[in-house]
Amino acid sequence: MTYRIGVDAGGTKISAGLVAGNKLIRKIKIPTEQGKGRNQVIKNILKAISIVSRGIEKKEIGMIGIGLAGPVDSKNGILKVAPNIKGMQNLPVRKIVEKTSGIKTIVENDAKCVALAESRQFKCKNLIALTLGTGVGGGIIIDGKIYHGSNYAGELGHIVIDYRGYKCNCGNNGCLEEYCSGRGVERLAKKYFGKAIPPLEVQRMAEAGNKKAIQVYNEFGTYLGIGLADYVNIFNPEIIVIGGGIGRAWKLFLPNAIKEMKKRAFDVSSSTVKVVPSKLEVDEAGILGVASLD
Ligand SMILES: [Zn+2]
Repeated sequence: MTYRIGVDAGGTKISAGLVAGNKLIRKIKIPTEQGKGRNQVIKNILKAISIVSRGIEKKEIGMIGIGLAGPVDSKNGILKVAPNIKGMQNLPVRKIVEKTSGIKTIVENDAKCVALAESRQFKCKNLIALTLGTGVGGGIIIDGKIYHGSNYAGELGHIVIDYRGYKCNCGNNGCLEEYCSGRGVERLAKKYFGKAIPPLEVQRMAEAGNKKAIQVYNEFGTYLGIGLADYVNIFNPEIIVIGGGIGRAWKLFLPNAIKEMKKRAFDVSSSTVKVVPSKLEVDEAGILGVASLD
């Protein structure tokens, strides 16, 4: 039996899973502890790997895949910009893990890994996956493979939907990420309720029929639809999958997003694309994707 290990290292937690074939055998979650510095984060990544592979012989493990948020130089296994884990940029993560574990290691952007997992889940080779969470991550799958461009392609959260819009962490203005993320929901809640409300609470209110909360998600959907229209025009994907923690509220915003997308995109492409919610658990998608890299 050959196993693979998938690690999804985020700003607050590190999820790791033991994968055989396409199946997640076991998974664990430990804190990232980024406040203790990057050495501690690396230690915790190694700890997660050792916990999840307990009882398995090293020779039975084919590879370790590590997914990180931010632009990753996957050829060299280095996170180039670390928006969510402070101090991790330019750290040779692959080299360190490979040297310590003695197992072949691949490092990739987390959202690209999710896209790969979705591509397998939906058995679809031309697909776009959007992860709506703290930020907006994205991955483009073309002919069954992650599209990298020269290296860092697929920053789908950073397309501009309002050129005079909110300042984004990336330095640009009006990126989709500022509208269709957790803070996007909070901002809209402020607009409709006059105060910031956590996204999950707004979701519950909307599901219970609160009119203002429903308006929050309608407007959220409009913004998302503007972005979707661009992806559809550029990539003409068969499927766009919406995942991530904020994406769980898809019933509230997806109808409006699809309406807006159809209004804006070329009909030849928008009439065939399927925009669907992810069927995978949020952390499962990352683990399965990163463990299927080669
Ligand atoms: Zn941006």
